[in-house]
Amino acid sequence: MTGQEKIYDMRGLTEEQVKLAQKKFGKNQLTPEKKESFFLKILEVLKEPMFLLLIVASIIYFILGEPKDGIIMLVFVTGVISIDVIQEWKTDKTLKSLKNLSAPHITVIRNSEEKLIHSENLVPKDLMIIAEGVKIPADGQVIKASDLCIDESSLTGEAEGVWKIIFDDENNDYWKKDYCYAGTLVTQGSGIILVDKIGAETEYGKIGMNVIAAPDDPTPLQKQTGKLIKICAGIAALFCALVSGITFLNLIDHILKDRIIESILSGITLAMAMIPEEFPVILTVFLSMGAWRLAKKKSLVRKLPSVETLGAISVLCVDKTGTITINKMTVVDTFSFGEEIRMCEVIGMACETDPYDPMEKAILSYCENKNISKKYLFEGELLAEYSFTNELKMMGHVWERKEGIIIAVKGAPERIIKLCNLSEKEIIKVEEEIYKMSSVGLRVIAVGEMKVNNKEEVPDTLEKCNLELVGLVGLEDPPRRDIKDDIQRCINAGIRVVMITGDNGVTASSIAKQVGIPHSSNIITGDDLNKMNDEELMKKVKEVSIFSRVIPEHKMRIVKAFKNNGDIVAMTGDGVNDAPALKYADIGIAMGKRGSEVSKEAADLILLDDNFSTIVDTVKDGRRIYINIRKAVGYVFTIHIPIALASLLAPILGISASMLFLLPVHVVLLELIIDPTCSIVLERQPAEHDIMNRKPRDAKENILTSHILMKSIIQGLVIFVASFGAYYLCLQNTVDQGKTARTMGLAIIMISNIILVHVNSSETELAYNSFKNTIKDPVMWAITGGTIIGLFIIIYTPISGFLNLASLNVKQLLIVSGIAIISVMWYEFVKIIKSYRDRKS
Ligand code: ATP
Repeated sequence: MTGQEKIYDMRGLTEEQVKLAQKKFGKNQLTPEKKESFFLKILEVLKEPMFLLLIVASIIYFILGEPKDGIIMLVFVTGVISIDVIQEWKTDKTLKSLKNLSAPHITVIRNSEEKLIHSENLVPKDLMIIAEGVKIPADGQVIKASDLCIDESSLTGEAEGVWKIIFDDENNDYWKKDYCYAGTLVTQGSGIILVDKIGAETEYGKIGMNVIAAPDDPTPLQKQTGKLIKICAGIAALFCALVSGITFLNLIDHILKDRIIESILSGITLAMAMIPEEFPVILTVFLSMGAWRLAKKKSLVRKLPSVETLGAISVLCVDKTGTITINKMTVVDTFSFGEEIRMCEVIGMACETDPYDPMEKAILSYCENKNISKKYLFEGELLAEYSFTNELKMMGHVWERKEGIIIAVKGAPERIIKLCNLSEKEIIKVEEEIYKMSSVGLRVIAVGEMKVNNKEEVPDTLEKCNLELVGLVGLEDPPRRDIKDDIQRCINAGIRVVMITGDNGVTASSIAKQVGIPHSSNIITGDDLNKMNDEELMKKVKEVSIFSRVIPEHKMRIVKAFKNNGDIVAMTGDGVNDAPALKYADIGIAMGKRGSEVSKEAADLILLDDNFSTIVDTVKDGRRIYINIRKAVGYVFTIHIPIALASLLAPILGISASMLFLLPVHVVLLELIIDPTCSIVLERQPAEHDIMNRKPRDAKENILTSHILMKSIIQGLVIFVASFGAYYLCLQNTVDQGKTARTMGLAIIMISNIILVHVNSSETELAYNSFKNTIKDPVMWAITGGTIIGLFIIIYTPISGFLNLASLNVKQLLIVSGIAIISVMWYEFVKIIKSYRDRKS
């Protein structure tokens, strides 16, 4: 039996067979998924310098013969570790679900039905359906091919596409024409493949492509904060040595062992207070939670660093059809040279018999309205097809019908006109008609026809045809409903919207005008682009926002020009050839519905609803997330200042060890509050009302700007003066009541911490507004309430004894609350003065 005669069972596998095969062959993955054990995770957390310090401190307590303090320390350490592990587990889970959502899919036939499945669930003997834009996920035999062309360069290095056939017995090459390979790309046509090998067994797997899989690099923010932590740790080490030395000298009347242990303890307290170990937690939690929230709003982030970049976007390059317009076309105008009915027939014959392109669907329904059925249009034999390419911008079909052989062609008018023998007068007339239609935003398609006597006369390429121009068709594709508002939102946010389209300039300009893109009459065409060098283009893109008649390859140059001008560029794309530009853009955006698998794989972001509004909302969220990270970093810095200074100053002032303001256990207690406050409360802060009226941030700017640093230092110093001042004064007045003094100071830090979150939630809005915005958020109340209840528990229950704290009377409690409020709320006056000054200027 020859390969051609083989009959395949087209019903596909049953669910039972799939289950058995999955058991036998496993998942279709190049590298099996690694599972990190819970124990390893805890070990990972324990490796952090902060925890090492904590453990050393508890050991010292045990050596000192104070197991009570040691145990309390260990309880707190367990608390902090639990928070960290839970957060890590949650972010891991979030990231995994995100990965799952954006994992590649493939259509298979199982149980006689077409089904979309995760590519990793493919098994040998599955029937997979492939079409243009699909990256093939497994090796297999081609059992059906229509115009199937595959780019196998990732395996063979051959740039030229390979036309696949269903039988290739004569060919002894290693790479077969009747076989498809994982990792290669369908550039044209469609087909059905009988899966043969999956995962590491495929040719792709065999040559070790898995080695190339990039590790998760730290994001730019992670690098920045990593550096910041190192600097803080360096300074902490220095001060730790200083404080230990001073304590050692101060305890001259103690025995040597005590002197050593006390000095180590005060050094450790300071080091713990100074290292802002919350930074990495903030970043992972904020970025992954941000990505998760975006996914719920139909915007799937594929790479975590993109969440950071989103807020810095200054140029948004979008295609017209489907992004700015609704991608639903209707024929609303026609112009014909002969009878209109003839033009209808020819344009109908130039369409695919079963089209998925909305334009072709619109043309066929226009034919239907003219009583020309599909049955009538496609009743002949299709002898040949001139495929549509982005370069040609036209396509055609050769039909053998009762009346003879007809070549029906449709496409961009300027391309079709070139193939027609028109007089100058006729050309002027046609161009007038084209202008009339395009200037109201219609897409104009020209229709041409050629009759030949026999098959031998059919030209082998479209360019060799000698056409008769039959007419023009104008198609309407209305702009999306909210697009005008969305573009205005971008303009207010300092983001330039740039339209890149394959359509003609006049149509593009008209649509741009309708949707409010500024300078809509400045246009650069694909031909202009070809004549420009990169420097000229860099200058031009500063004032031009419309690029027409471009091919996907031009997109790369346009993105490059913007990037060279220092812009942060986001770009949408859906085709196979858009992938390089999507990869090159700072944020490549693929369309979830109409985008090819390849474009999705190249993109940083997938729009699940293909909607322009979602892009703008995503940018807004990107800004919110970045600003919240910045607020959290500022907050951590601020709150560490009073803790660190208190741990530094008390020993320097020669205060005896038992009377010190903060012992290690108190620092851990504060860490227990700081961590959830910043990673939960600040992460949830809604966007400030004017967030989209600000210019995009400078992408090179540090997360901790000099302004935030200054603000944090001043705020931190004020809280320090308030808390340490209260502690010190209390200590002076009631020398034997070191515990009361400590409790007052600690209470001030804890209360001011709650208020600080609200005060610092905006640079312009008052804390009252932030409080109002989050008043219905139960998590917010849980954290705030938790801190207050926690404060009462450590002061008024027997726990206070374990923590070396004392009960405060009502007067003392009112005093500390008042001091805490003043120590933070003063910044509200700064905001009022600033906004008054801004309004005046
Ligand atoms: P955008 O880039 O804004 O999404 P587009 O994707 O519609 O625009 P292309 O699909 O590249 O742009 O089409 C460019 C031009 O090619 C169209 O303006 C039209 O003249 C021609 N064209 C597109 N599709 C077909 C088709 N199926 N048959 C004939 N001509 C076509």
